[in-house]
Amino acid sequence: MIKTKPTGPIPSGYSSVDGELAIGGQKASALVSENGSPLFVYSKKALDMRMTQLRAAMPDQLDLHYAMKANPFPPLLRHMLPLTDGIDIASGGELRIALDAGAAAEKISFAGPGKRDDELEQAIQAGVTINIESPTECDRALAIGARLNKKPRLAIRVNPDFDLKGSGMKMGGGAKPFGMDIELVAPTVKRILEAGAVWRGFHIFAGSQALSADAIIETQAQTLDLAARLATAIGQAPAHINLGGGIGIPYFPGDEQVDIAKVGQALAIKLKQLPDILSSTQFAIELGRYLVGEAGVYLTQIVDRKESQGQVFLVTDGGLHHQLAASGNFGTVVRRNYPAAIASKFDAQADETVSIVGCLCTPLDRLSDNAAMPKADVGDVVAIFCAGAYGATASPANFLGQGPAEEILVE
Ligand SMILES: *Cc1c(COP(=O)(O)O)cnc(C)c1O
Repeated sequence: MIKTKPTGPIPSGYSSVDGELAIGGQKASALVSENGSPLFVYSKKALDMRMTQLRAAMPDQLDLHYAMKANPFPPLLRHMLPLTDGIDIASGGELRIALDAGAAAEKISFAGPGKRDDELEQAIQAGVTINIESPTECDRALAIGARLNKKPRLAIRVNPDFDLKGSGMKMGGGAKPFGMDIELVAPTVKRILEAGAVWRGFHIFAGSQALSADAIIETQAQTLDLAARLATAIGQAPAHINLGGGIGIPYFPGDEQVDIAKVGQALAIKLKQLPDILSSTQFAIELGRYLVGEAGVYLTQIVDRKESQGQVFLVTDGGLHHQLAASGNFGTVVRRNYPAAIASKFDAQADETVSIVGCLCTPLDRLSDNAAMPKADVGDVVAIFCAGAYGATASPANFLGQGPAEEILVE
């Protein structure tokens, strides 16, 4: 007997029509026959619901930014613009996509440890805020501003002296390529002010993909304390502070949703107790996967069903070239199964143990290992959930000459 491995929790809000998974009211098989396979499907309704829940949980005065590196698909980005208060970008390419989608320059901020001069120039020309990651990057930005005769809008990205506990990706606490160490912050702000540029404030991002409300609450409190200390040392109030993000989503068996009501209540209390120097500061959090991850599903059709030494393999026309993270090859140590289903038999009982694999000629290309699924055959459609973030955009689409999957935004 093959031991069945559990799959991650299917996000709430997905329902069935005629026994099939339906997204935006359309059946998986119809979506694939109209748009091709493999296919990423993003749901407006799921995006709207997530934003409504988050707004309700967070303090009113807190801005909610979308970190578009999670999913830069232009129709999705356009949908997110009126729902959010700012867009966080991480490259000149994302700047172009954001401006083309209609984002206002004053609502865009640009972070990333290796900004090229041409990217800094585009950002300064456009008038977006640049989160400065080092004193030398600051000098380059000021020199480019002087050459263009434009005042750069600069915030300081701080490398915090703490990390976000339990986070999947630590972005602070120790030696890091992101942001600048605390002792460099005040002298760099001084340089910005002396050069006559606009100092926008701080960006402090301690980590990603945390599921513990208590860990997020602790990090937000530490972030606000650090910002107050820095502002006091500088002797000037920051106009804006980006508190980072880090709210994760459940991908794996046993993972649970973050208690965002608890996070919001704690933050509201903390914002009421701010020291005077931060009393007129505007605060934001920046989120990627939490806003869009669960709103996306990757659909891929079964092209072969085969057995090897008693094990069943469902071979699909998709794979890690679109879903690197689900294959276990994007920042995970132990491979575990993402939430998955036979979309075309969504309501059927699981009656066999199968491994769902991609079409690439590598043993890394696994979408689900020894999962309990209803019996599926060639032509059936597989769904991999949590595909709205770091799917299409963070996978090696050109590997083996495969090319990207189609992406659609549905109701
Ligand atoms: C990647 C990134 C984010 C988004 O992370 P998620 O885990 O998708 O929420 C936010 N801010 C910065 C600075 C990032 O690098």
